[in-house]
Amino acid sequence: MFAKSGNSIWNVDGAIEMARNLVSSPQLSLPINICELASALGVARVEAADMSIDGYLGRGSDGRLLIRYKTTSPMTRNRFTIAHELGHILLYRASSCEIPECATRARNRCTDEELAANRVASELLMPCDAVRTRLAYSRLSWERIRELSREFDVSITAFSRRIIEVTKRPTVMFWATVSDKDPSIVRSCRCSVSMAHQILFSQPPTLEAQHLIDSLEGGEVYHPRAFIDADECLLQWDAMKVEKFNRAQHWFLCWELTRR
Ligand SMILES: [Zn+2]
Repeated sequence: MFAKSGNSIWNVDGAIEMARNLVSSPQLSLPINICELASALGVARVEAADMSIDGYLGRGSDGRLLIRYKTTSPMTRNRFTIAHELGHILLYRASSCEIPECATRARNRCTDEELAANRVASELLMPCDAVRTRLAYSRLSWERIRELSREFDVSITAFSRRIIEVTKRPTVMFWATVSDKDPSIVRSCRCSVSMAHQILFSQPPTLEAQHLIDSLEGGEVYHPRAFIDADECLLQWDAMKVEKFNRAQHWFLCWELTRR
């Protein structure tokens, strides 16, 4: 896929292919050593810095590539930031573009480029085959996702998003934020479905999330109904309660239970 970005065209597939080649060794050991990868890509220095932005890709006074990450961020986040900056490098290389001065890149920050850099970053830290192998034979649950995110040394959020990208199983995730005043009421809800299947719900995702939360409170166990590749199915689920930006959230991980 080529993503158009301003006047440039990014070769996203080419960058992902380059990332796959970098982490495709059968002797691949986890977690991925991101600083070693940076060095292999010609980055002379990767260093922590006192700054307001998450990451910085630029050149030192010697003209060599340099990546900086925020001193105060958790290490899993910094690993993703470093991988994201490497994502930019691979995008430029795959698209045969010069790496611009950092100031220019920051000023012309483009969503297409940033999203593409994140996709490449996921490929570097959570290689597709390694993730698929680990998901193939185990029952999916937040506990399992927590274990795997530790193994890959990434955040649970990053790993759960990656599952949606690579799994071959029909999988759905809801991230529901509840009201501060009444934690039984869904304030907003995001829903992602695995790309390998066409999944449609019989009612809007926010309503599904509300039923799932009601189900947690007791009463009857609720299983969302969905059409997976046109077959009606009931989804089994697992829930986790989290605090995100000081707001209570419920995360639901759903997967196919039975075809009806
Ligand atoms: Zn970026």
